[in-house]
Amino acid sequence: MQILDWTKGGEGIAYQSCPACKAVWYFRRTFCPQCGNTEPLERQASGQGVVHALTVVARAPSEALRAHAPYAIALIDTDEGFRMMAHAAADLAVGERVQCRFIRIAGCLLPSFEKIPT
Ligand SMILES: [Zn+2]
Repeated sequence: MQILDWTKGGEGIAYQSCPACKAVWYFRRTFCPQCGNTEPLERQASGQGVVHALTVVARAPSEALRAHAPYAIALIDTDEGFRMMAHAAADLAVGERVQCRFIRIAGCLLPSFEKIPT
């Protein structure tokens, strides 16, 4: 199965897990940060999770982002067990269930979380 990874232009979130100790993590590494296993598995996340924290960025860090400010940034606890930071809808609250969609800002494909429609 082809794993989609937004950092490589695909509309998906990739993460890694350890075949030995079952640890999961987001930032790609060549070894397990828990036990040092050197054959981590590449996996596809569902894109669903829960809002852990939320902030609004009023002063964008770059010229390209300035046109989009203010915008929300969230820490998401994914269903797979890793935590990631991403853009987010402005109407979210901590503890809310969210789903990832992909947006384009200044030519970059970025994950952005929004409420799961009920
Ligand atoms: Zn491990």
